[in-house]
Amino acid sequence: MHELSLTRDILRVALQHANGQTIRSIRLHVGTLTNVEISALRFCFDACAAGTLAQGATLHIDTLPARAQCLGCDQILSLPSFSALCPCEKKARLRILSGDELLIKEMETEPCA
Ligand SMILES: [Zn+2]
Repeated sequence: MHELSLTRDILRVALQHANGQTIRSIRLHVGTLTNVEISALRFCFDACAAGTLAQGATLHIDTLPARAQCLGCDQILSLPSFSALCPCEKKARLRILSGDELLIKEMETEPCA
C-alpha cells in the first residue's frame, strides 16, 4: 500500500503552497496507471490531514485514463494496465502518453479565522 506515502507527499506540497492559509479543498489528477486505490487515498488523506491546515478539506479526485503510443506502429492505445501490448504484435515498447500522473490540479484556500 503506497497510498500513505503518496498522501504525505501530496499533503506536504499542498501545505507548502497554502502559505499558512486553511485548505478548503484539493483537486487531484490521478492516472489509472498509478494503481492508487482511491478509497485508500481518501482514508489516508483524512488521517494525515488531521491537526494540519488541511484538516476537513474536501478531496476531489479526477481519475485520468491511460493512453500510450506503440513505438512499433505509432498507434495510440487505451491501456488497461502497464502489461498491455499493442495488437500489431511487433511487441514493441509502448510510450506512456498519460495515465501515470499524480498531481495537485487545484487548491482552494482561505485565510485562517
Ligand atoms: Zn503497434
